[in-house]
Amino acid sequence: PSDRIQVIAYAVLLEETLGQPVPQARVRYHRDNVTAIVEVDEAAKAELREVVRRARELRRSLQRPPVTENERLCRRCSLAPICLPEEERLLARGDLAGERLGRRPKESPRENREGAPLPRPTLFPSDRQRQTLHVVDPKARIGRSAERLLVTTEEGRQFVPIKQVDAVVIHGFAQITTQAIHLCARHDVAVQWMTAGGRFSAGTSASPGRVRQRIRQYAALTDPSERLRLARRLMHAKVETQLRYVLRATRGDPRRRKECQMGVDRMRESLRKIPNAQSTASLLGLEGIAAKAYFSCLPELLGSQVPDLLRPAGRTKHPPRDRFNCLLSFGYALIQTLVHRTILAVGLEPAFGFYHQPRTAAAPLVLDLMELFRTPIWEMPLIGSVNRRTWDVDEDFEVRPGHVWLTESGRRKALQLFESRLQESYKHPYTRQSLTYARMVELEARLLEKEWSGSPNLFARMRIR
Ligand code: SF4
Repeated sequence: PSDRIQVIAYAVLLEETLGQPVPQARVRYHRDNVTAIVEVDEAAKAELREVVRRARELRRSLQRPPVTENERLCRRCSLAPICLPEEERLLARGDLAGERLGRRPKESPRENREGAPLPRPTLFPSDRQRQTLHVVDPKARIGRSAERLLVTTEEGRQFVPIKQVDAVVIHGFAQITTQAIHLCARHDVAVQWMTAGGRFSAGTSASPGRVRQRIRQYAALTDPSERLRLARRLMHAKVETQLRYVLRATRGDPRRRKECQMGVDRMRESLRKIPNAQSTASLLGLEGIAAKAYFSCLPELLGSQVPDLLRPAGRTKHPPRDRFNCLLSFGYALIQTLVHRTILAVGLEPAFGFYHQPRTAAAPLVLDLMELFRTPIWEMPLIGSVNRRTWDVDEDFEVRPGHVWLTESGRRKALQLFESRLQESYKHPYTRQSLTYARMVELEARLLEKEWSGSPNLFARMRIR
């Protein structure tokens, strides 16, 4: 039908331009060796007028149209990674119907005409095509050479084709030229700055934002009940992930499980109450109880081989006061940069969130979304690395009165750990698609937008197993 309307439109345009009737149009399908003949009569023109009217209506609308019923169309549609039709169909088919928060739905495999199971389509790319360029050396200079970034350090020069880069993150005091910033802007590559202490400082965005998307976001997130609904979903996902991690890490070890039992009970209690929280304040209280319980369990997840200097004494931040907390904070800042640029790339306004308040320089929507990823993207690999004795308590840390920083070698190790975690795949429990963690962040940002664009209840379903 779309080819038919397209060719009718061409015929009408020709008619208007040439001043002569165009009674018939033809579409040649070379692959099938078929020519389709389309009569351009009054009925066809009426059909065209109706399609144009509908297109104008959609353009004015703040709501997205529903996904097409013809699934085959989506497989070649360039909008599929943005539109996420398969995720919407999961809802429409009822695969998620009746499912309580955090409970995995039953698999209902789709079948072809012969009754054989159909593979689930994977329209959302499972891996990112480009990599993040982290520049750690304070004496580095990032310039431009044709369509490449040129990183110059005392050790030499490195050329990085801009098409291989999804973001440039500058840690500390490296310099970047205006020409390099222009090149990044032209290729939608975000440039972000982190302080030497590991805090997100600022970033660029090539796009000024998409107005209609943002109007929808503002409209939805000014509604207190919608904000609370989203905050409940988010907190449930966060606390359940923390709980599952502690249970998983202590499985088969009765001594450690016993040490964590009180924390586990408190997390379970918070989890039970979160879906009924009546205000953001009570959610904050439940989150606080669960977080305290969770962090009380973390030292138990560290093996006996871990030196005392790498063991946390509670959670300290702004600034972190021990090595473990220094590593935690650095990883969270990396997640923040990733989520920040993802939110901008998706077209949302980072400064307008639904749970966190604009108290610090960090954008509230970024703080909201990153709650989903703290445990799977950073805490889990970090604890694994500490248990593997990856960190040198002297060389990787700079201990000052009242705070601990990472040295350059510590930062390099942390970046390597973070980037390799982003490359690891994870099977989403609801869409059942395997994605790298890097892609998972974008998927959740897009699903969040669907919460107020006509397909709610897909956001924040991710949990670790
Ligand atoms: S991916 Fe979305 S926009 Fe593209 S054909 Fe499918 S429903 Fe339509």
